[in-house]
Amino acid sequence: MSSVIVDKFADIRVLRYEVPGFEKLPLNQKKLLYYLSEAALWGRDIFWHQNSADGLLLRKVLECIYQWQQKNGTLSEHLTTFTKRVWFANGIYHHYSNDKFTPNFSEQELLQWMTDVPTDVFLSAVGTTPCEALNKLKVLLFDVDYKAKKVSLRTGEDLVATSAVNFYSGVTQCEVEQLYATTGHNALNSQVSKLSDGTVVEHVWRLGGMYSAAIQKIIYWLNKAADVATDEAQANVIRLLVKYYQSGELADFDAFSIEWVKQKGSLVDFINGFIEVYNDPLGLKATWESIVELTNVEASAQIELISANAQWFEDHSPIAPEWRKKEVKGVSMNVISAVMLGGDCYPATPIGVNLPNADWIREQYGSKSVSLANITHAYHEAGKGSGVLTEFAFSPEEIARQEKYGAQADELHTQLHECLGHGSGQMAEGVTLDNLKAYGSTIEEARADLFALYFMADDKMQEIGVLPNKEGAWAHYDAYMRSGLLVQMSRIEEGCDIEEAHMRNRQMICKWVIERAEPIGAASIVERDGKHYVVISNYEALRTLFGQLLSEVQRIKSTGDYEAARNMVETYGVSTDKALHHEVRKRYAALGVPPFSGFVNPKLEPIMVDGDIADIQISYNEMFDEQMLRYSRQYSVL
Ligand code: ZN
Repeated sequence: MSSVIVDKFADIRVLRYEVPGFEKLPLNQKKLLYYLSEAALWGRDIFWHQNSADGLLLRKVLECIYQWQQKNGTLSEHLTTFTKRVWFANGIYHHYSNDKFTPNFSEQELLQWMTDVPTDVFLSAVGTTPCEALNKLKVLLFDVDYKAKKVSLRTGEDLVATSAVNFYSGVTQCEVEQLYATTGHNALNSQVSKLSDGTVVEHVWRLGGMYSAAIQKIIYWLNKAADVATDEAQANVIRLLVKYYQSGELADFDAFSIEWVKQKGSLVDFINGFIEVYNDPLGLKATWESIVELTNVEASAQIELISANAQWFEDHSPIAPEWRKKEVKGVSMNVISAVMLGGDCYPATPIGVNLPNADWIREQYGSKSVSLANITHAYHEAGKGSGVLTEFAFSPEEIARQEKYGAQADELHTQLHECLGHGSGQMAEGVTLDNLKAYGSTIEEARADLFALYFMADDKMQEIGVLPNKEGAWAHYDAYMRSGLLVQMSRIEEGCDIEEAHMRNRQMICKWVIERAEPIGAASIVERDGKHYVVISNYEALRTLFGQLLSEVQRIKSTGDYEAARNMVETYGVSTDKALHHEVRKRYAALGVPPFSGFVNPKLEPIMVDGDIADIQISYNEMFDEQMLRYSRQYSVL
C-alpha cells in the first residue's frame, strides 16, 4: 500500500492528505487554523443525526463492540467492515448512492456481540442495555425495505415519507409544502415535525434550539478564532456567523454570507454552517459542513495570471464572434490546502467548492471559489500505484508523460474550466440556460471543459508560464480521451446509462471528437490482445476538433437550441457501448481499486507552555478507526 492510502474496505479507500507549509506559519495563523478546526469537528454529530434519527445510537453500539473486541483480540471481520462503512458514510446510508447498507452479520450475532461486553461497560458507552438497543435498531438494520433510501427522488411518491433523512419527522410532503407556502424563514436550518396534537412545527438548529449542545461548542471555538483573526474584517465575518448560530435567522446567515464573500485575500479562510441541500428530497434543508482552508500562495498566483488574461482568452476563443463577451472578468479562485474537513465534507470530500448558494447574493456580491489542491494531490499519489494508468494507457511513452505532467495539467484544466470556461461567452437576447432544460448542465459542463481543452494547447500557456510545454497538454488529451471513452465506464453499472452531467459531458466530447478524428487518422480506438485503447496520433488535429465542438456547443447555449442540445447529448453522452462497457468493468475490477475515496484529517495539537499555546503541532499518522474513535470520544455532545 502506498503511504497515502490509510485503509481499504468494501468499495472504499481512505487516504491521507498533508498541509504543506503549516509548520512555517506564524503562531497566530496556526492558532486561527486550530480554533477553526475545533469548530469544524464539533459539528460532526449534527451531520450524523441529520442523516438518520438512529445514526448516533447505531454508532455508539458499533463502537462499543468494536473496541471491546479489539481489546480482546477477537475483532470480527464482518463487524469491522460494517463499522467502517458506517463511519465513512456518517450513518447507515452509502455516501454516494444513498442506499442503506445491509449488515453481513445476523441479529443473533449482533446480540451476542453486545452481551459479550460487560453490562456496565455497555451501559455507560451506549446508555441502554443490549436488548433495548437491539429493539431500537433491529428494524433499521435487518429489514431491508425499512427506510431503504436516504434520499428518494422518485416522482409521484411522497418524497418526505419515502426518504430516511432526518430533516422531517412524522410529516408528509404535503404538510411540509403547506408550512413553507406561508412561512419559510427557517427552511434551511430546521427539522419539521408533527406534535402529538397534530400541529406541524419547526425545530430550529440554533443555540437554545435543536443541536444546541454542539452549536454551543462551535460558537465557543469560533469566538476564539475571531480573537486571533487575520484582521478586523475577518473577525467581523466570524462574529456574524456566531450571531447566526445564536439566532438561527436566515437574515443573519445572509448578512454573514455577504461579508464572507467580500472578505478576500487572507491566508486562512473557512466554510462552516448549514450549506448544501442535496440531501433533502425537497431541496430545502441544509446539511452541516465545514472546511478549514489555508491558501496555497504560489498556485493562487498562477490563477491570477489566468484571470488577468481573461479578455485575451475570450477574444481568441474559437467561437462565432457574436457569442464572445465584449467585457469579460475572470472569476477569482483560490487554490487552498484543506487543513480540516468536517460534517458533510468528511471523510468523502469535494475537490472544489463555490459558495454561497443564494443566487441573489451571487448576483450582487459574487462568489468565492476554492480548489482543494492537497486533496487533488493525494488522489494523484494514490492513483500512481493503482495500476489504472498502466492498464488503460496504450504505450510506455503515454504512461511516462502522464506521470510527468498529469497532476499539473489536471490542476490547470480545473483552473481554466472554473475561472474562465463557465464565465465565457454571451447569450442571445432573452435566452437563458433554462431553455435547454434537462440538457443544460451537460452542455454547460461541456462548454467549460472544451474551453480548457482548447486553450491548454495554446502558446499562451507557455507565454504566461503556467505549463512548461505542449507535452503537458498532450498528456492531458490522452488522459481526457482515456477517461471519457474507457475508464469512466468503470463507475457505471452494466446495463445502465450515464446520468451524471459531468460524466455525460466527458463521453459526449470524446465520442464526438473520436468520430471525426478516426477518418482523418488523428486518433482511434485500437484493439490489442482483446483489450481496447485510445491512440492519438495527431494532437493538433484533436485540438482543432475540440475548438469546433466548442463553437457548436456555444451556439447551442447562446441560442437556446433545445433540439440540438438533446440530439448532441443523447447521441454521444448517454448510452455506453455494451461490449466495451463490459470489458472496461472487467479490467477495472481486476485491479482491485475501490471506486470511492475519502480522507483522514491531520491531527492538530496545541503545545502548552505555562498555560499558553506555544505552538500547534500537526501530525498525519492516525489510522481511520483511530481517528473515528477519537472523534467520538472528544466531540460527542448529542
Ligand atoms: Zn463546471
